[in-house]
Formats: sequence, C-alpha cells, structure tokens
Amino acid sequence: MEDNEKMTREEIEGEETRETAKQPDQSEDDTGYEKVCYICRRPESKAGSMVSMPGGIQLCHDCMQKAFDALNQNGMDFSQIPNMPFMNLNMGDFSNFMRPDMAIPKKQKIKKKSEETKTYTIRDIPAPHVIKHRLDEYVVGQEQAKKVMSVAVYNHYKRALLSRQENDGQEDPVTIEKSNILMIGPTGSGKTYLVKTLAKLLDVPLAIADATSLTEAGYIGDDIESVVSKLLAAADNDVEKAERGIIFIDEIDKIAKKQQMNTRDVSGESVQQELLKLLEGSVVEVPVGSNQKNAMTPMATVNTDNILFICGGAFPDLEDIIKERLSRKSSMGFGADLKDQFDENKDLLKQVSNADLRKFGMIPEFLGRLPVTVTLQQLDKELMKKILTEPRNAILKQYEKLLAYDEVKLEFDDQALDWIAEEALKKDTGARALRAILEEFMLDIMYEIPKDPNIGAVIITRPYLEKCGGPRIEMRG
Ligand code: ADP
Repeated sequence: MEDNEKMTREEIEGEETRETAKQPDQSEDDTGYEKVCYICRRPESKAGSMVSMPGGIQLCHDCMQKAFDALNQNGMDFSQIPNMPFMNLNMGDFSNFMRPDMAIPKKQKIKKKSEETKTYTIRDIPAPHVIKHRLDEYVVGQEQAKKVMSVAVYNHYKRALLSRQENDGQEDPVTIEKSNILMIGPTGSGKTYLVKTLAKLLDVPLAIADATSLTEAGYIGDDIESVVSKLLAAADNDVEKAERGIIFIDEIDKIAKKQQMNTRDVSGESVQQELLKLLEGSVVEVPVGSNQKNAMTPMATVNTDNILFICGGAFPDLEDIIKERLSRKSSMGFGADLKDQFDENKDLLKQVSNADLRKFGMIPEFLGRLPVTVTLQQLDKELMKKILTEPRNAILKQYEKLLAYDEVKLEFDDQALDWIAEEALKKDTGARALRAILEEFMLDIMYEIPKDPNIGAVIITRPYLEKCGGPRIEMRG
C-alpha cells in the first residue's frame, strides 16, 4: 500500500516535470515561426531579438530606440508612428481591440530558415531521361518539348542546388546562367499540363499566374510580386521551399508591346520591364497569405534566384511572322511557291527566332532572360485519340473506373474515338474540348446503366455518338 502511494507520488512528480517542460514560452519557440516587429514588419531573423509588449505586440530594438529618441527630442504624437495606433488609445478599453484596423497581428506563419541547409548531391536531381520518361506517362506527343524541358530543368536544379554549395562563398569564374523557359504552343496543346506534371514529379511548389492580370506597380490589378506571393502560399509559407519552386506565367503573349502607343502601356511593355528583375533573380518582400501589401499583412523576404520561371503563350500570328521571314530569306523570285510550302508545314513554330519574337512585341531584355525556348505542336486527330486513352489518368480510364464500380465494362470502338477526336478538332481549343464532348453523352450512359443490374458491358459506337443508333449492350452471364 505504502509502495503504491510512493509510486503515485513519483508519478505525480514526473507529470509535473513534464508539465513544466510544456511551458508556453518554450513551445512557441519550437513552432519554428518567427516573431515580427509590429512597426517595421521585419522578422526576428532580420531585425534581431524582439521586445515583447502587452497585447502580444513585438518590437525590434531599432524601432524601440527610434521611439525613445523621438520622445526625448521633442515629445511625440505616437499616432504618427506607422502601425502604432494603440498608443493613442485607452488600453483599458478592450472594445478598441475589436476594430479591424486595431487588430493585433496574428503570429506570422513564416518558417524560419533552418540553420543547417540540406546538402544536395547529383543523385538528388533526376536525370533528364528519367524526367522525360515520367512525363511520357502523362503527356502525349510533344516529344521535343518534353526533351528540352527535361534538360532545362535538370540544368536548373544543378545550378540551384549544387553549384552554389560547391563554391561556398568563393568566386567561381564559371557561373551557370539561369535556364528560364519560354513555352510557345497553341491553346490546349498541354503547356499548363506539362508544367503541372513536372512540378508534381519533382515535388516542388508551383504557382500559376496569368500575365493579363499583372500590371505595373501602382495600377489596378495584381502587381508583379504577387506571383511570388502565390508561390509562397503554394509552399505553405515555407520560404526555403518556395525558393526552389516553379512559377508559370501563362498568356505571356498578351503582354507584348503594343504597336501603336498613344496611351501609357501599363499592361504590356512595362510589365515585361518589371518582370526582368524577378526572372534574373532578386530579393523581394512579399505579403504572406494575401496579394495586397498593407500595414497589417506580415511580409516575407524571398530570393527568386533559384526559382524556375516558365512563361507560356499561344502567340497567335507568330507563324505568319516566321513564314514571312523564311520566305524573304530564301526566295528570290519564287516567293509564292515557298509561301505555299511553309503554309503546309505544321512544325513551323520550331523555327522561331528571337527576331520573330521581337517583331511580335517581346522586348529583347525579356527574351534574354528566357534562354530556353520550347515549342509545342498543334494536336492532330491521332494525338487526340491517344490523349483519350493512353495517359495514366486518361479521361476514358476515369469513366471505365466509375462504371467498374457498378461491375459494368465500358468500351469505346475505334470509330467512336475517331468521332470524338474530330469533334474536338472542330472546336479549336485543343485537348480541352475532349472532356466537354465526353461529358455530354456519358451523362445518359451513367444515368441509364445502373438501372438494369443485368447489364455487363456497354460499347460506345460511332452511330450512337452521331445520334443515329444506340450503344451496344452486353448482358451478364
Ligand atoms: P494549354 O496549352 O492551353 O495550357 P492545357 O495544358 O491547359 O493547355 O491543356 C488542357 C487539358 O488538355 C489538360 O488538362 C490535359 O488534360 C489535356 N492535354 C492537353 N495536351 C495534352 C497532352 N499533350 N497530353 C495529355 N493531355 C493533354
């Protein structure tokens, strides 16, 4: 009995020690999040240790000192210090804290940079043929594009992860330049899909932005740095992870320089200009968890040097520019014949040059920061059919799986696939049209089939799709 009591007391003491270990102050340090100065918004890693004030406010030593200096010199109206609205309030009146502009900032969720950074070796980066092989599982055709991307990505991560740690602060005469990518291809040819697949297989965060929504700082629209903010969000506010990520800026052709400029060009040339510093690598302060900078949004510092930028666009009419250049160059009298020959050439985009892109309206400095050009070809009927059936998560495989739950086998005969591909080509939106076309007729199939438990298989035929017949049904047994 006594023994039991002793044990219990020891146990209680043990519990107490454990309880003490969980004091709030220490556990806060363990979260890995930084304190942020309430006035200048710099995190602890930048501004040094913080002084804790009542109400959860943290102040860095610099700001604290400035406040005292000002007070000593001439007395002070504290409301003039940015972000210090509390100073003119009655702190005893808690209703003041409910006002949105007076809210105490939440603890900033920026991961501290870990003290010792991971050491990478060449084995951490998948080789180009491995990247290409993985891409093949999802992306149909576009062989050249997949190859160029695989090499560019491989080189990019060699530069980002290996070259820096090798030099270890010393000057190296050979500096590898950034291999940002310009992707040119018609709508629905797989540009976004290729980038998404790439980011997934490399396990890096990805942000997709639309160039048309970007405007010069100070104008209505998203400012350029919002793309980095998006990447930070995709990396769960982990700055280090974001700094190894990918930013895809779509519709880049929409920010081509306008030919006639009577008004100020806020969304074209000037946006290209502002993108330059991000593309080549710079340190930017971005708001965390919002794309708007204001006094209450915590800021994080992100270096874009190792971020891979991929800019994509359909570049309509670029083919005409290429055609014109080629026929001008190679013709002396046979212009018309050559032009016809180029008209039939489906791979004309592959021959794009910097001069063509400049003529299109991209500025030379911008093109200079996108040294790798990838072109994607227009999808033809055969590729469309393959997209329906071959990728790992092909749309038809998805429908087959859905009906398999009802123990019904779904099949498409080859002529039916021809019809779907032909219809998609008519829509001129590339592979994007496929899903919409399938959804239209699959609705009836998925509604009717579960009604009859004796149905064992459904074969979709071309006459059914052309609405002059039904699907072939096979019963169980
Ligand atoms: P865009 O070139 O306009 O960015 P997307 O990449 O958004 O086109 O393509 C739209 C959809 O079409 C993708 O989500 C994907 O399902 C499909 N798709 C397009 N191209 C391919 C391709 N080459 N291989 C497999 N699927 C593709």
